This record gives sequence, structure tokens and C-alpha cells, in this order.
Amino acid sequence: MKKHRRTFDYRRIKANYSYDVAEICETLDITKGTAYSWINKEGLKPIDNISPYLLHGTELKRFLQQRQKKRKHKCQPNEMFCLKCQRPRRPKGKTSLITSKGNNPIIKGFCIICNTQINKAISQSDLQKYKEIFNLQSVDNEHLVECETTATIYNKNKG
Ligand SMILES: [Zn+2]
Repeated sequence: MKKHRRTFDYRRIKANYSYDVAEICETLDITKGTAYSWINKEGLKPIDNISPYLLHGTELKRFLQQRQKKRKHKCQPNEMFCLKCQRPRRPKGKTSLITSKGNNPIIKGFCIICNTQINKAISQSDLQKYKEIFNLQSVDNEHLVECETTATIYNKNKG
């Protein structure tokens, strides 16, 4: 399976060197499509805008550093994304769990910084893990047991 999120080792890039697209692909192990999408859509700046592009090592490093910084906004298991703060936050106080048939369970809480409601959809299989992390309060146990049983039977029949 193809991994969505990747980090690139920009220390492998030499600062005082101009790379063409093929060299970038080889150094970072990426496809030409990725390289061109960085140039055309994500703000990687070639030395001049004439094809075939040449890219300065310093610019390439800057681009990758900035790109990887952006990705650090991913939530840790004990965090939820707060739309107001625009970053992952831990919930304060009690969190609650909302379950309904056919949907993924949702954990709801309030941002520890700005008090905005934050939530996180989780998968049924992660439920136990999150129950422990968030010390979830209002859980409808009977319903959950029913869901888990159904899921197990379904998977058995399938395999
Ligand atoms: Zn917030």
C-alpha cells in the first residue's frame, strides 16, 4: 500500500548545488509527478521559470523544511484538532463518547485553551485504546457490546 505521509531527508541535499528534476527524484526517491507538483502547486521555486527546471539546493531544503513543519499539525492520540486554534489540542476535563449504529464513534470534548468544542471520529477497533486515553465517561456499554459482536460475526463470515 502506498503511504500517504512521507518525510524526506533534506540533509541529503547539498546546499551549493543546482539540481535538475531527475536528480531531485533520485536524491529524494520521488517520482517526476511529485517533483512537478511541488514546483507547480506547492511553491517550490526553480532558479528560473524555464523548463527544464533547475533547483538550487538551498531552496529545496527550505521547501522541504517548511513542508514538514506543516505536517506536524497532525493530532497525537490524546489530541483533537481545534478549528479555532487551528492546531491539535488536548481536551479539558471530561470527554464523552457518542455512538450510533452504522457510524464511527465520536469523542467530544472542549479545547483546553479556547474552550471550543472539539471532536474526533475514531474507528470501532480503536475504541478500547481511546477509552483508556480519554477516560471516556458516558459510554453506552450494551450498545457497544452489540456492535462489537456484530462486527466479529460479520468478519468471520467474510473470511
Ligand atoms: Zn482551541
